[in-house]
Amino acid sequence: MLFDINKITIQQLSSLGTENIKVSTLRTDLIHPIVSGNKWFKLRFYLEEAKRLKCNTIASFGGAYSNHIVALAAACKINGFKSVGFIRGEMNNSPSLQEAKALGMQLHFISRDAYKYKEVVMQEFAHNEWFWINEGGYGINGALGAATILTDKDCSSFSHIICACGTGTMLAGLVIGSNENQLVTGISVLKNNIGLNDMVTALLPLQKNKSFTTIHDYHFGGYAKHPAELIDYMNQLFKREQVPTDIVYTSKLFYATEQLIKQQYFNPNSNILIIHSGGLQGNRSLAPRSLVF
Ligand SMILES: *Cc1c(COP(=O)(O)O)cnc(C)c1O
Repeated sequence: MLFDINKITIQQLSSLGTENIKVSTLRTDLIHPIVSGNKWFKLRFYLEEAKRLKCNTIASFGGAYSNHIVALAAACKINGFKSVGFIRGEMNNSPSLQEAKALGMQLHFISRDAYKYKEVVMQEFAHNEWFWINEGGYGINGALGAATILTDKDCSSFSHIICACGTGTMLAGLVIGSNENQLVTGISVLKNNIGLNDMVTALLPLQKNKSFTTIHDYHFGGYAKHPAELIDYMNQLFKREQVPTDIVYTSKLFYATEQLIKQQYFNPNSNILIIHSGGLQGNRSLAPRSLVF
């Protein structure tokens, strides 16, 4: 079996906590070494819908290092769908795309200009038996799937849940899946991600008008930017807690959480759960030996 949800654990992180703040992480990265973390949760209900609609092929969009593309290729293979990935930019043989190809995905490279007009691509390739998923799995089914991140292990006693945000689909899911005593915070990994709150709100059911917070100060220069300071932090965190993180999402999340604790952002007696959303396959784009794990 490719994804093993039973491998998820809650790990306490004593070096991040203080006298009166507890910190733990939900290790969804453990479900698979390459196809790790939140993407599997975001995809699960799309796959069910595709099955219901009797589609035999699932198509989506992504960059050459996309966790979403690799996870989609794997999920389709396991569930008997064909998969097609529309990849931004010229032909590229990144480790992620090699993996996707090995998992049976058919790849189409499209120019950065054409990529801006996804509807045109979708029209050009329109096919009755194709089911399309938005880039990054953004959408209501993605959020409902992400809500189930909190159901495998008992997460009900945490006061705060904090996660990394790209499209905000996972954040919306965690808002949906959390209880009324829990505060949900998202750390944006994109620069100028001004539309994020609206993107999240658009995925929440009207009766779930629960508030959430997004923080925009920890993108380290922008999406996938990983200055030496961030790599140092990843190595140092691993030495302290044996938690591997990725350069795009989770390293920025853990760093941000530590900084916020130091700035006394959280009330005393907070019990914080950091969602480790995986993404470790993306580290394969680094030079060898950059990381100690
Ligand atoms: C995609 C991804 C995210 C962001 O998820 P969104 O739902 O797009 O906000 C966070 N962490 C990892 C590891 C991811 O791959």
